[in-house]
Amino acid sequence: MHQGKRAIKIKNSMENISPTKIICLGRNYRRHAEELGNVVPDKPIIFLKPPSSLIVEGEKIILPSQSQDVHHEVELGVVIGKAGRRIPRAKAEGHILGYCILLDITARDIQKEETRRGAPWILAKGFDTFAPVSQIVRREELAHPEGLAIRLWVNGETRQDSNTRFMIFGIGEIVEYISSYMTLEAGDIIATGTPEGVGPVRKGDVITAEIEGIGKVRFEVG
Ligand code: MG
Repeated sequence: MHQGKRAIKIKNSMENISPTKIICLGRNYRRHAEELGNVVPDKPIIFLKPPSSLIVEGEKIILPSQSQDVHHEVELGVVIGKAGRRIPRAKAEGHILGYCILLDITARDIQKEETRRGAPWILAKGFDTFAPVSQIVRREELAHPEGLAIRLWVNGETRQDSNTRFMIFGIGEIVEYISSYMTLEAGDIIATGTPEGVGPVRKGDVITAEIEGIGKVRFEVG
């Protein structure tokens, strides 16, 4: 495990970004909210993952000893290029550098316990290696980020297969909402929620995820 700032590569360039924070949405796909027995939210559910949870291809997802039920969640990541606060949704695009695949790896048993206690999801979501990411594809190369096939396989078996058009809150709305509470810095990543089909992973599993126009990533569970 390396320490210090994580550098995430922008595809076809020598440039990297390093987020100050990873802001995540919970329950942003109706069918995923329903599969976990949750109500569909009327405003976004927001939590953070620490930058220390980031890994890039070639690094392994490490199962922590504190959890017996670690789940995969594939998500579209929105990468901020230009800092801003109180960004109106109509101007959101101008603050976006590009997009990536982000796996919101989750210790489901710890999350359930935190939810029961009325505690935030930080520990369930924030373990080292719990935010595997792909390279970043520039905004200009992705015409319709709200209409992309999004898929995840475990050992070659399809687990998640949806489309980003099923997001409840759209990208502009999400940027507007989050930036009305906190400044979005260049390099920050917004994980826009996972579609249905989440489930457990075990040591030795190979997770492959793909978002149309961004590409494919592969991560081993160690
Ligand atoms: Mg998630």
